[in-house]
Amino acid sequence: MSATLAPVEVTVVPCLKDNYAYLLRAPGAARAVVVDASEAEPVLAALEKLGVPLGAILSTHHHADHVLGNEPLVARYPGIDVFGSAHDRGRIPEQTRFVEDDEHIEVEGLSFRCLLVPGHTLGAVAFYGQGAVFTGDTLFAGGCGRLFEGTPAMMNTSLNERLASLPPETRVYCGHEYTASNLRFAAHVEPGNAAVQAKAAKVAELRARGEPTVPSTLADERATNPFMRCDSAEIIAHVAARLGSDRSPAAVLGAVRAAKDAF
Ligand SMILES: [Zn+2]
Repeated sequence: MSATLAPVEVTVVPCLKDNYAYLLRAPGAARAVVVDASEAEPVLAALEKLGVPLGAILSTHHHADHVLGNEPLVARYPGIDVFGSAHDRGRIPEQTRFVEDDEHIEVEGLSFRCLLVPGHTLGAVAFYGQGAVFTGDTLFAGGCGRLFEGTPAMMNTSLNERLASLPPETRVYCGHEYTASNLRFAAHVEPGNAAVQAKAAKVAELRARGEPTVPSTLADERATNPFMRCDSAEIIAHVAARLGSDRSPAAVLGAVRAAKDAF
């Protein structure tokens, strides 16, 4: 589906301390779409630079640092749609569209498949389209979100069955700039992984120049992200003390998550 669409223009909008909002504009579209309006001001400044008004908000989940901009942006652009999971009804400010798992949405010339990816929260959605996936706090470059509402089994399904089934070249746009610290943990649990070392060096260069480390790609994540490498012998050995006899990917993911929480 995405391959037939023209590449979308993505503006990375740093918000708050380390959040990212993303402004998307289809070629020639009269209005832009924002993924995760963390706060209004930087989004409004980015819209002004693009020279187009806002047409819709996509919210990956209900946490305040991803939706604080919803109300002021809807006040500025009355009548725009706010998309979020049906599961998040009542939790996402100004929500008007309640998407179900695998639902296709068309908005301002863009097309997305909504993937319900519970784990960080129960209503977490990843928006997949135009060769990119917007993962909020589910999949980070080099890591994943904390399991505030879901279980390791849910997060394992979300990362290693749902997201991992997307094409490897899919660009990954995540909700926070956590990549450098995530990769320090990745190197700690899998010191023999040369891809982690190479990516960490690349990320250090980007951060030294003040540049974002997004987008990553799914291929990159499968090569470097310990939460997508639950079959790595080195990782399993590292967390063995936290594992019982269950060495399933879900159990390994839970143990890696617990190790990261304590790192
Ligand atoms: Zn969150």
